[in-house]
Amino acid sequence: APQQQFGRSSRMSESSLRVVWVYPDLLSTYGDRGNALVVERRAQQRGLGVQRIDVRSDQSVPTSGDIYLIGGGEDRPQRLAAERLRNDGGLVRAAENGAIIFSVCAGFQILGHEFVNDLGEREAGLGLLDVWTVRGEGARCVGDVLADVNPQLNLPQLTGFENHQGVTHLGEGVSPFATVQVGRGNGTGDGTEGAWRDTVFGTYLHGPVMARNPAVADMLIKLALDVNALPPADTTWYDALRAERIAAARPA
Ligand code: GLN
Repeated sequence: APQQQFGRSSRMSESSLRVVWVYPDLLSTYGDRGNALVVERRAQQRGLGVQRIDVRSDQSVPTSGDIYLIGGGEDRPQRLAAERLRNDGGLVRAAENGAIIFSVCAGFQILGHEFVNDLGEREAGLGLLDVWTVRGEGARCVGDVLADVNPQLNLPQLTGFENHQGVTHLGEGVSPFATVQVGRGNGTGDGTEGAWRDTVFGTYLHGPVMARNPAVADMLIKLALDVNALPPADTTWYDALRAERIAAARPA
């Protein structure tokens, strides 16, 4: 088998990559739409066909996608999104089928067991990642982030922007996605940033994170295709953005 690293077999049955962008109407407040655009673009640069499926919150989440993207949002839309995703069940079924899911901030919190909603109440998440989120007691975590990705994932340093009040604790069923060098990440004070288990990822990084870190988009595409490597694709524009944001994040 060409791809043993992630321990899964290819599930991309059709000739085009199906990229599902979950709830653009509720969870796209911080430019996370860019993640869908970058995944699409990085696939096209390799000559892959892409079918992007934007699923509004009044629609059901299809279970046949290859890559699911879910973004950040403010507290009230986050509660509505969690409620609808729980009732719909599509994302959970997709995860049970081994789908690749990449979630950001509010989306990350929703994938966990629970978070604190805009009413100050504990709200159930989807339980797809063994994490839980409480409301941070201190100042909101806001600013540029530099983080080293979990070495098992073999990715370059991450640059991103965080803006959250939630503090996310990791259970034993996940590994940290990354470790912060600059910034707060999960906000627990232990340096962890995001969470990862198998093909499900969570991060606090906006940016959008894929535009600042095209290697993350490439990783998702490799997982979907069940390959270890992709043909090279130009990164000039991404490299310029990375250099600018890495310099901005470093303390003077
Ligand atoms: N509302 C959540 C929080 O503040 C998520 C914010 C976000 O998605 N950027 O923790």
